[in-house]
Amino acid sequence: MDFTETDEQRALRAAVAELGAAYGHTYFLKQARSGGRLTELWQQAGQLGFLGVNLPAEHGGGGAGLYELSLVLEELAAAGCGLLLMVVSPAICGTIIARYGTDAQQQYWLPRLASGSSIMAFGITEPDAGSNSHKLTTVASRSADGWVLNGRKVFISGVDEAEAVLIVGRTTDARTGKLRPALFVVPTDTPGFSYQPLEMDLVAPEKQYLLFLDDVRLPADALIGEESAALLQLFAGLNPERIMAAAMAVGSGRYALGRAVSYARSRVVWDVPIGAHQGIAHPLAQVRIELELARLMMQKAAVLYDLGDDLGAGEAANMAKYAAAEASVRAVDQAVQTLGGSSMTAEVGLASMLASVRATRIAPVSREMILNFVAQHSLGLPKSY
Ligand SMILES: Cc1cc2nc3c(=O)[nH]c(=O)nc-3n(C[C@H](O)[C@H](O)[C@H](O)COP(=O)(O)OP(=O)(O)OC[C@H]3O[C@@H](n4cnc5c(N)ncnc54)[C@H](O)[C@@H]3O)c2cc1C
Repeated sequence: MDFTETDEQRALRAAVAELGAAYGHTYFLKQARSGGRLTELWQQAGQLGFLGVNLPAEHGGGGAGLYELSLVLEELAAAGCGLLLMVVSPAICGTIIARYGTDAQQQYWLPRLASGSSIMAFGITEPDAGSNSHKLTTVASRSADGWVLNGRKVFISGVDEAEAVLIVGRTTDARTGKLRPALFVVPTDTPGFSYQPLEMDLVAPEKQYLLFLDDVRLPADALIGEESAALLQLFAGLNPERIMAAAMAVGSGRYALGRAVSYARSRVVWDVPIGAHQGIAHPLAQVRIELELARLMMQKAAVLYDLGDDLGAGEAANMAKYAAAEASVRAVDQAVQTLGGSSMTAEVGLASMLASVRATRIAPVSREMILNFVAQHSLGLPKSY
């Protein structure tokens, strides 16, 4: 077991950190507050090969793994400008298509997702199903030349920026009972597909949408891979989703901690810097420890995933997402406390992070559903629901 990164990984980390520093939290907030997007940063990250670092080299990617992709997101978030859509486009959608897509699907989508010239959103959550994906009601029925999709989705991020959405539905043959999902690529300009923004109380450039699928006609090749293997395909995307959500949370926590430490070193109220008071120093030290622990679990999950151990990666990815959400919530809260009143000013821009890191306790999978998973699968306790 070797806890050191390779020269390539260290160089990638440094290069991403440099790009992040060129944009930073000021850019992120400016775009978020003006209703703008992070397009410039997204495009530059794509041109530098950062967005597709995990995707196969023969399709324009970097040929590395999820470890490298999570490193990219962690460093951007640590610079104050995390790219939420990396969690969905290259991580979930890119992975599923790279592992299970047909040759034609791979040839069309992977170079676009790798370069960042296209974004694919991911839609699983439904208003009535919530965390219970067995209750998904988005249904695909066969037509003479393909599929007709009907359903509703909620909280889907980045649809306005996306060329297509990877929709998790079920076929009419499997419309009830335990979920046997079917995954469809739905271009956002398909007739019958429409979306409405949700008014969220988050300061973030990426927006969430309510989707309406009313008799959306799709060609046969809109179905990703095999209908019968779709549960495997879905899981192949969910571990990367959790690992990337952990990476974004760890990076955001590192960003908040950095701001707090730099303030604690220089702010003098009682003749010494406030960082000399243990009431300020110890909670920051705790945050550092908790972020490091979460990061270690995230890295373990990514390594297991890249080694092809999907089962081991599943447990570790859940634990990493849990730990990273807790650590980042604590980091931002403690940073706000450290900066006192200043933290609440728009100029400092830390208080606006409270809600966004808090969201990582809920999405993409809630803290309680992770605890259910660990109770059942790691501890062998009975299922309660
Ligand atoms: C900012 C943001 C971005 C998002 N982006 C996307 C996206 O791009 N694509 C997408 O598909 N979805 C997205 N989501 C949706 C997200 O994945 C869901 O919000 C999440 O899975 C929880 O579902 P829910 O909100 O319906 O909560 P519910 O399932 O209604 O749960 C409500 C509460 O009850 C708890 N609960 C539910 N069941 C149990 C149980 N059995 N035991 C104990 N507690 C339980 C939950 O943990 C939660 O605390 C996003 C959400 C947010 C906030």
